[in-house]
Amino acid sequence: MKVKTRFAPSPTGNLHIGSIRTALYSWLFARHHGGKFVLRIEDTDLSRSKAISINSIINGLKWLGLNWDEGPYFQTKRLNRYKEVINVLLEKRDAYICICSSQELEEIRINQIKKGDKPRYPGTCRNLQIENRLNQNYVIRFKNPLFGRVAFQDKIRGEIIFDNAELDDLIIQRSNGMPTYNFCVVIDDLDMKITHVIRGEDHINNTPRQINILNSLGGKIPIYAHLSMILDEEGHKISKRKNAINIIDYHKNGFLPEALLNYIIRLGWSCGDKEIFNISEMKELFNLKFISKSPSTINMKKLLWLNKHYINNLSLNHISNLLKDYMKNQNINIKNGPDLESVVKILRSRFNTLKEITESCRYFYEEFDVFNKIAVEKHFTIKSVHILEEFYERMKKLSVWDNYNILTMINDISKDVKVTKKDVNMVLRISMTGNMYSPSISSIIDLIGRERVLSRIKKAINYIKNL
Ligand code: GLU
Repeated sequence: MKVKTRFAPSPTGNLHIGSIRTALYSWLFARHHGGKFVLRIEDTDLSRSKAISINSIINGLKWLGLNWDEGPYFQTKRLNRYKEVINVLLEKRDAYICICSSQELEEIRINQIKKGDKPRYPGTCRNLQIENRLNQNYVIRFKNPLFGRVAFQDKIRGEIIFDNAELDDLIIQRSNGMPTYNFCVVIDDLDMKITHVIRGEDHINNTPRQINILNSLGGKIPIYAHLSMILDEEGHKISKRKNAINIIDYHKNGFLPEALLNYIIRLGWSCGDKEIFNISEMKELFNLKFISKSPSTINMKKLLWLNKHYINNLSLNHISNLLKDYMKNQNINIKNGPDLESVVKILRSRFNTLKEITESCRYFYEEFDVFNKIAVEKHFTIKSVHILEEFYERMKKLSVWDNYNILTMINDISKDVKVTKKDVNMVLRISMTGNMYSPSISSIIDLIGRERVLSRIKKAINYIKNL
């Protein structure tokens, strides 16, 4: 059997961690088996589907590298096909027209609740011949079997059984003529020859209804795997409309696709104690067997840890390219400063995200006018003017501009001016970066370059004199 999976989001909100996990597991399962992965946008709910959500889905998947082999299919472009199948079902008398008004249905529902029954459609129109009354509002319902059971082997939860008596006659076409989700899914999975349906557990109750429609059409039942939910750090279920972070915001906050995927794969799947998975390991090792039945909880600390890991372990060239794009989005012109790889080399071990690196390397590419207030109060003294003046003169004359010579000069000045190396470093650091924290100051001075270093020293001297 050639494996074919799909990711079938409804574009009614942001693409969030939960949806990405469904996409990732479906994608990995297909890749692991050398199969195909389909992207399908389930947009038949016209009032809730939004173009912005479609963009969020497509951009998010692209950013993470979850490429699809077919699609994106849009259900709204397949309406003729759904009509065709609805007609087949009507002809077979496995579907029927229902003219019950919403007011009637509401009364029935209230009565059922009063009696302590589960609210369900009682099948009023099930055996009526009402094709000739189509001038009034109607929906089309699927004739669910009245007796028997629907059972399926869920790959994560084992056997799941529903009594047909629990399921009522599902609406497959709304009064506005649009087919409904549960129906389109079945036709699409069938037409697209989907072998494995991997999706959230909120769809478990839909599965028996979908299987009944499939049975009526003589279609092959796919293998199902329903994933448990993901909880936020406060223990609430992640929901598109409430607490979900748009996946693109992780991008904006400087997370790496590699780290995010590694983090997401572990939200409910394990492979012994292994924590770090690169993409090829994920494809090689992923299976449905080790998906957990219990809910998983978001853990930002772990994501930051993984991001730091990837920032430090992927090649300098790769991180520099990612950082280049990131800085471009922040309007930082990297042509105004040192080669990005050298900057990444000295900075990357200190930070968790590309955002943090960007914020702390602006001084290489942009001039600044403001010095940190506490730094100024503590370290910009008359003595520091003396240190800086000494530097200015010696730096002007330094024959070979490199880290070693700069470091030697710092040591010499500390001896000659009789101040500690720590003090010298700090005054230089504040003058070069505006702040009290940075990697080794000699490497920073080396990268900033003589001309700019001299002008920053001058600027700091003037600033202190004016205090
Ligand atoms: N469109 C559904 C959703 O976004 C998923 C359908 C499915 O996977 O069967 O929840």
